[in-house]
Amino acid sequence: MIYEIRQAGAKGLGLFATNPIARGTRILSERPLLAIRQDQDVDGIFYAAKSLTKNDKKALLDLSGHSGGQHLELVRWMQVVWWNVKNLVGSVRQPSTITSSIPSIRSMQEHMAIFNVFRSNSFNLGGRGRIQQAVFDNVARINHSCLPNAQGNFHSTLGRFNVHALRDIKSGEEVTLNYLPELGAVAASRGSKLRKGYGFECDCVACDLTSARGKLGEERRAEERKRIKEFAATVEKNAEGLVAELKMTERFIQLFEAEGITGREVASMYFEVAKLNVKLGRRDEAIQCAEKGLELDEYCIGSDHPTYEDGVEFIKALKSKN
Ligand SMILES: [Zn+2]
Repeated sequence: MIYEIRQAGAKGLGLFATNPIARGTRILSERPLLAIRQDQDVDGIFYAAKSLTKNDKKALLDLSGHSGGQHLELVRWMQVVWWNVKNLVGSVRQPSTITSSIPSIRSMQEHMAIFNVFRSNSFNLGGRGRIQQAVFDNVARINHSCLPNAQGNFHSTLGRFNVHALRDIKSGEEVTLNYLPELGAVAASRGSKLRKGYGFECDCVACDLTSARGKLGEERRAEERKRIKEFAATVEKNAEGLVAELKMTERFIQLFEAEGITGREVASMYFEVAKLNVKLGRRDEAIQCAEKGLELDEYCIGSDHPTYEDGVEFIKALKSKN
């Protein structure tokens, strides 16, 4: 085992390296504890929970479920009641099961706990997989950092959530992921999303605006956001617009690299720049960019990932064009 789960101070439990972990290492690879499909809505959680084994249900309920404030609490309670009623109506049609299906307060409370855990611990897996949103046992223990040293990706063919080291991690260092999907957000915006969505204050270096490191990053991010707004307001989709978009994306890559962010988001930007170069007829530049993206992908998602394979195909196609 290259990691352990233990207390991480005020954050509760966390996942820590027990050995030095090299960049690109697949730290863990986990099947979902509970998952809902693309075609399911919120009650998919409860249907999925019904088939959990006793141990899996315990593991799930052991995860902390931040409730997200009074208002949400009420909404969730209503959803749980609604689901129980629906379930009860369903069983009225089969009278033999009715007694066992009458929801007790205890089962409603358990449902609400499951719902809360799912809401605050699940990941949106996006992409091409059948599974849309899922919660994972050990992955859920990994705490957030706005400058994470690891990144998670769902591998749809394996049906597993893989966590890769984005840089070398020292023995004893906490392994962290970025919970926020938005790129380049400033501290105030990140803070409010983390508070509302997960119920904690981030204490990572990027959020410490009293430090030189935090201040510098904040200035960079604010400046880039301003540029993006200006860009979005003025860009036109002609060749000039493509060049502007390309420059903008390159600047964004620079910002991320200066901040020490090297995950899939940066890899995908390299591929964006590659595609823009293709549109501009610059094949050699396109290949160069795509190869940089692929190199990052090898670290952050691994060469067995479908997205990595797409990258390989993309480059192959570019090289075969004469
Ligand atoms: Zn932070």
